[in-house]
Amino acid sequence: MKNFEQLIKECLSDLESIGIKIGKVTKYSINTRAKSRWGQCKQVCNGIFEINISAQLLQDNISDQAAKDTILHEMLHTIDGCMGHKGKWKELAQKVNKELPQYTIKRVTSSAEKGIETKTANPKTQTKATSKPKPKTQKGNMGVWLFLLIIVGLFLLLEIIYS
Ligand SMILES: [Zn+2]
Repeated sequence: MKNFEQLIKECLSDLESIGIKIGKVTKYSINTRAKSRWGQCKQVCNGIFEINISAQLLQDNISDQAAKDTILHEMLHTIDGCMGHKGKWKELAQKVNKELPQYTIKRVTSSAEKGIETKTANPKTQTKATSKPKPKTQKGNMGVWLFLLIIVGLFLLLEIIYS
C-alpha cells in the first residue's frame, strides 16, 4: 500500500510549482469498494470539497504516477469553474501535462493504462459451455445390448455343443 498522505503532498507541491492553487479540501479518503471509478471529488458545501481515491490505485504494483494522475485530476475539480471536464478544467489539465510531463491527466483512464489487469473470460470454461455434453444413455444401452448378445450367443453355442 502506498503512502497516500505522501502522494497528496507531492501533488500539492507539484501544482504549486506551476502556479495552480486548488480549492479547500477537508477530507482525503480511500475507497475500498470502488471498482469502476478511480477517484471522486465531492463538494460538501460551497467551496469545500472531499476527495476520494480508489484503493486499487494505492496498491504497490501500480506506479506512483498513475495514482497521482487521478489525485491531480480530482484536485483540479476543486478549482472555481472546474466541476466538469471541459473549459477551465481541461485547460488546467493540459497545463499540468505540458509543464509537468511526468503526468498524464485525462478525463477518463482505462484499467490497462493504470496497469491494472482486468479479468478476461477463461477459455477453458468457455469451451466447456459451448461443447454439448455427450448423452450417457446411448453408451449404457450399448452395454446392455452387448450383454444380451453374449448371453444369446452362449445359449446357441451350448445348444450346438450338447445337441
Ligand atoms: Zn473528473
